Amino acid sequence: MTDKLGSDIEDYQIKKEPYYLASGNEIELFEAAYSSRLPVMLKGPTGCGKTRFVEHMAYKLNRPLITIACHEDLFASDLIGRYLLKNDETVWEDGPLTRAVRMGAICYLDEVVEARKDTTVVIHPLTDNRRTLAIDKKGEVVPAHPDFVLVISYNPGYQSVLKDLKQSTRQRFTAMNFDYPEPEKEAEIVSQEGKIDLETAGRLVSLAEKIRNIREHGLTEGASTRLLIYAARLIGAGVSVYDSCISAVCLPLTDDARLQETLKDLINDIF
Ligand code: ADP
Repeated sequence: MTDKLGSDIEDYQIKKEPYYLASGNEIELFEAAYSSRLPVMLKGPTGCGKTRFVEHMAYKLNRPLITIACHEDLFASDLIGRYLLKNDETVWEDGPLTRAVRMGAICYLDEVVEARKDTTVVIHPLTDNRRTLAIDKKGEVVPAHPDFVLVISYNPGYQSVLKDLKQSTRQRFTAMNFDYPEPEKEAEIVSQEGKIDLETAGRLVSLAEKIRNIREHGLTEGASTRLLIYAARLIGAGVSVYDSCISAVCLPLTDDARLQETLKDLINDIF
């Protein structure tokens, strides 16, 4: 068991520092929260750097990181673990949350509202002073490793009555706001991650700003930093700027023909 866990830790340790450009005091805030093992909620739109931030922090704090992308078919048992049949024997296999709890990892539940409601029951005892995980199927209560901490991400833009975090859950986390970085920083990120010159990166950011401003007119979400990086990569691979923006920004954002026309006009304006 110890051996298995020992090798597990290696698997989840981040070996190389992930590039992260801070927007404000988020690094210091996270370090402070972690020093008291306070659970953290990262709020913000998709593709604005939340996952990268957690990776950066896991590296900086020298903790293994276990990331779980939540979706509507994710049950508590997917987090905790299950009995499996192996060579006619039933053996227990820890799920990713249980592994994180035992090894003292940072456990990152990405888009937590997407998960089934039964997952919140599992999360609650891990986020208060009990710091325990109940494995009902085994009749076992696992105390969290002293270094374990839970981090969740949440996109307030997708909020609906059906998919919202309950107060009883929200109020167990410290929260940090994330948004698209300010233009100069975002251009630096797009240039660095997309491997293109700063000038072109700056124009991609101008395009994104314009798109973010027309959001009210039918787009559910603005162009993310992630999409700008995709556009930069296509440009770098020799695709024309216009086609890169269509393929990496315009088409992923909307199926609406009229909105696509508006976006095409914006692309032509800027490049
Ligand atoms: P989210 O988790 O918010 O959906 P990600 O963390 O996956 O978004 O961000 C998408 C990509 O944007 C990252 O892979 C990274 O390349 C880039 N990125 C966004 N913000 C930053 C930042 N502040 N520093 C470095 N890279 C960033």
